[in-house]
Amino acid sequence: MSVTPTLAARAADLSLQHLEKRYGSIIALKPLSIDIPAGTFLTVLGPSGSGKTTVLRLIGGFSEPTAGRIVLGGEDITELPIFQRPCNTVFQDYALFPHLNVSENVGYGLSVRGRPKSEINTRVEEILTVVGLQKMAGRAPSQLSGGQRQRVALARALICDPRIMLLDEPLAALDAELRHQMQEFLKAQQRRSGITFLFVTHDQQEAIGISDLILVMRGGVVEQVASPRDLYYRPQTHFVASFFGENNLIEGTIASRQGDEVCIDTKLGSFVAANPNGCTVGQRASMAVRPESFTVQPDAGKPPNSKTAINGVIHDTSFSGSATRVTVRVASGLLTTTVASDRNKGALHTGDKVILQWSPGDAIVVAADDTIAGELK
Ligand code: ADP
Ligand code: MG
Repeated sequence: MSVTPTLAARAADLSLQHLEKRYGSIIALKPLSIDIPAGTFLTVLGPSGSGKTTVLRLIGGFSEPTAGRIVLGGEDITELPIFQRPCNTVFQDYALFPHLNVSENVGYGLSVRGRPKSEINTRVEEILTVVGLQKMAGRAPSQLSGGQRQRVALARALICDPRIMLLDEPLAALDAELRHQMQEFLKAQQRRSGITFLFVTHDQQEAIGISDLILVMRGGVVEQVASPRDLYYRPQTHFVASFFGENNLIEGTIASRQGDEVCIDTKLGSFVAANPNGCTVGQRASMAVRPESFTVQPDAGKPPNSKTAINGVIHDTSFSGSATRVTVRVASGLLTTTVASDRNKGALHTGDKVILQWSPGDAIVVAADDTIAGELK
């Protein structure tokens, strides 16, 4: 049996329009506008205190916006009470009823809605099959593992046919392996049901693996909304470039610009990049190159005389199976590159003089942000 048809039939477009939340002088969420296509797995990613839970609570109706509107499938739901919203929320702590067994926990939402017992039994059986817990129906929550309890919480939310699932760091309490299993499971559930999942996490690896779209937050502000790949290779702000995955950032000043090609002067040399992100001549900025976008070659003794290369000395290498991570000491600090181990074949050693090269299209420029530490001067 499958629940797919009933869930898939409820596609919706969620539109947040200048949504804002203040607590006195604290701005938990600065005006946020976004249209989320139906059936999207959207992850809200950001450090603690950045406003992720605030976004979810506003959509779920657990708190009222200071300004702005929430529109679902063309209908303004900003003023609707929680129980009238077609959303279901799964919190980090699961919040199962300890005195009810698995079936009773899962069927709770339908029984408070006064659905007939036969319908509830059928739906509970369907959903428990979907989440792989049909053999656990009679158990108490205390007789389940963390991952099983989390699946009960998910089943309990799915059974009410939500148009939108709101998940606030639901995997944070699980160990690494179980977390990974549950990520796969959540993604599979979202794909098969076709409903929109809004998933909150502070873990960027988790976000990369699970999402169609990621909304990156910092200090109540949305920094960027993009696919995992675009966030990784096309960050638009310094914060996204440094928070999302490993990156090499070199500080400098924009010296010239022709179309999309910019030249940036840094203490390590003048370099070209093909993604200026709106930076203008004279502006302080940083060039960002991902570790895997560098190629590393032996330094034949000559300076590279190139706007896409840096000389350095290998500081350390670490083998991790398919890839070898190489840190290279340059004049002002360390840069990191990764080399496919089968191409390296043990040829790179600590102390070797090397040249790191990149293509301009792989170099991104982002405006300087003095609140972020840790880049090369
Ligand atoms: P996150 O989920 O990203 O950790 P939150 O959305 O919970 O962040 O909080 C965002 C900001 O709003 C934080 O600075 C937090 O302290 C503040 N905040 C959240 N709830 C309240 C509240 N009820 N009263 C006052 N400030 C709050
Ligand atoms: Mg939170």
